[in-house]
Amino acid sequence: MAIRRRSFRHNLLVKILSFSLPILFVGQAVALSKARNSLLLSAQQNLTSSAIRKAEALETGIQAIDANIDLLAQTEAFQSNDLEAVQLILDRVIRDTKPYDISCVELKAPQAKQALINTCDRTIIPSAKQVPWLQSGSVEIADFYVFSPGADAATASTPTDPPSATNAPEEKEIPIDRALIKFIVASPVYGKDNSLRYTLAMEVGLLQLQDATPQSLVGKTIVIDQNQIIVSHPDPDQVGKSISDLPEASQLDDIVGNVKAGRSSFVEAAHLSSKRENWLAGYSGFDVPVSPKQDSVWTVLAATPADKALYGLRQIRQVLFVLNIGLFIASILLAIYVSRSLSLPVERLIRYTQDVKDLSQLKSAPRSSKIWELDYLGTVIERMLRGLEKKSDELRRAWQDAQTANQLKNEFLANTSHELRTPLNGIIGSISVIRDGLCDSKEEEREFLNQADKAAMHLLSVIEDILNIAKIEAGTLDMKIAPIDLRTVLQDVIEMETLQAKQKGISLIGPELLAPLMIEVDHFRFKQVLLNILSNAIKFTDEGQVSIQIATDERPNQTINQSLEQTTESVAEIFMPPGPWVKIIIKDSGIGIDPKHLPKLFKPFVMVDGSHTRSYEGTGLGLAISQNFMRLMQGDISIDSEGTGKGTTVTIVIPRLVMEIQTSEIDEVTRVATNDRDVAKAMSG
Ligand code: ADP
Repeated sequence: MAIRRRSFRHNLLVKILSFSLPILFVGQAVALSKARNSLLLSAQQNLTSSAIRKAEALETGIQAIDANIDLLAQTEAFQSNDLEAVQLILDRVIRDTKPYDISCVELKAPQAKQALINTCDRTIIPSAKQVPWLQSGSVEIADFYVFSPGADAATASTPTDPPSATNAPEEKEIPIDRALIKFIVASPVYGKDNSLRYTLAMEVGLLQLQDATPQSLVGKTIVIDQNQIIVSHPDPDQVGKSISDLPEASQLDDIVGNVKAGRSSFVEAAHLSSKRENWLAGYSGFDVPVSPKQDSVWTVLAATPADKALYGLRQIRQVLFVLNIGLFIASILLAIYVSRSLSLPVERLIRYTQDVKDLSQLKSAPRSSKIWELDYLGTVIERMLRGLEKKSDELRRAWQDAQTANQLKNEFLANTSHELRTPLNGIIGSISVIRDGLCDSKEEEREFLNQADKAAMHLLSVIEDILNIAKIEAGTLDMKIAPIDLRTVLQDVIEMETLQAKQKGISLIGPELLAPLMIEVDHFRFKQVLLNILSNAIKFTDEGQVSIQIATDERPNQTINQSLEQTTESVAEIFMPPGPWVKIIIKDSGIGIDPKHLPKLFKPFVMVDGSHTRSYEGTGLGLAISQNFMRLMQGDISIDSEGTGKGTTVTIVIPRLVMEIQTSEIDEVTRVATNDRDVAKAMSG
């Protein structure tokens, strides 16, 4: 499967976003869950303590009612059976009682069917079966009884639906953060003789704090009496029902059980209303003052819908949402910025390498980034490119050299074969003439034999040259160094070349050497060098002269170049021996050499290419061999010319052997002879 390649910048962007965005969303989820837990915990604490407070308030209220009824029973009106006075007292009680609210009263004589006084729209005194004092007549059993008002009175318990005008003597306003919890208290009224006179019942309402604002967590009040009948509930439909009739019966059962065991706590996820919403509730209990023979614990719940308890969560979610959008945009911008700032230097490096067309015009690598690794990479790339440039330059030069060498070899082959063929032809021709008896006389025969001999000698020298260069290249050339007087060598060489110079009509001017000039060389090869140079000078000079000058310097390591400049106007680079030296300067007035050809003349097989030099014989080996010979003898050779037609100067330098007897004479050694006769004279002298 082909891998889809994307840019470094694109990859960076995707990587940063794919790491940062999940972190963002997970962070939001974690923050929300933490916030929810903390809100739940605070709801739990608030609702539990609210339930405890509610239970305490109810207990206190009921105790106060009990005390008040006791006081009423002691009054003269009740004791004197003056029903009018009782009526008046009860009216006042209904009007004035605080902090609880008495909505109606009923007074009944024992065993009577009809109530003596009833301000309620129904009978509220329980049946004789329910009320203990009517059953036994004993005052010790109970004197107070509290029970649920039943479903009929339930509407009065809702905060939005205050007690009805028919039940209440005057309309009482219920504050929005309060709920009225109604129940019925019944009490026996005894005469002074302890005989049961009446049963007095009141429908009492107690105000309870409840949630008014979304932020308050007081909770709505749910009261369950000892018979597990719901006395108060925010949903009026539930009032008067037994908890066993509710869907969450088992849960409520557990709560009632816990309360009976004296525990106050918190419960979550109960469906406490007809709406199927989750509620949170704290619960506690209190003992009603008198509930004979029965469990007298009532359960109080402070309940609130979960949504309301977690109201703050909605705001946190909104804030987190806005924050997340901000962070999302910020992380995208950051990702774009980071990927751009990281990829730009890389892109610049790529552009840099793409722009390299010509290594010789290489620019510096971009180094503007603040990332040192990338700057370093740029430096390394630039260094590599420069190395490549150097290598390619070397390769180019080597290639050119190889081409030149190849060309030279071809030229050499052509030349050499010509050089070999010419004398060979001469030899063959001369021998044929003699063999075929074409000569007229013995002298003519000798003449041909001489020519054949000369051609054979020339052939030999060409072959020797080739052998010499082969030996030099193989490094197998032996030198037999021995002292010799330079005058002797020069004399031999000049003698050998005089005839040739004469034939061409040019003057060969040798130096006048008055004293021996000792040098240490391989005699044969040094002579060969001098012959090469001298014969070249004569060969390439058609008119004028060829002169040989001598210069010396015996002081070691002194101003050698200066003295050199004094004796020659222009000289190519030459290696000077460290000690005393002798310089032989062979100057001609011949065809000269174009200076651009000078540097390559010491390479084997090189001949200045051109129409006129080509007309001269030669293999292009003479100078190369001479330079190698001279260097093996601790000397050197150089060639110089001011240009075509301006003559050539060859300088040979060789260490000098300083001997005591000649020290005084040597400084005067350079005197130029003026003609052939002078040369011969000087040599013999
Ligand atoms: P050859 O003389 O056999 O050709 P050399 O190595 O002696 O080979 O010389 C190489 C070339 O240098 C010659 O072919 C010639 O072009 C040039 N040269 C050498 N000496 C002179 C000179 N004195 N004047 C002009 N050209 C010279």
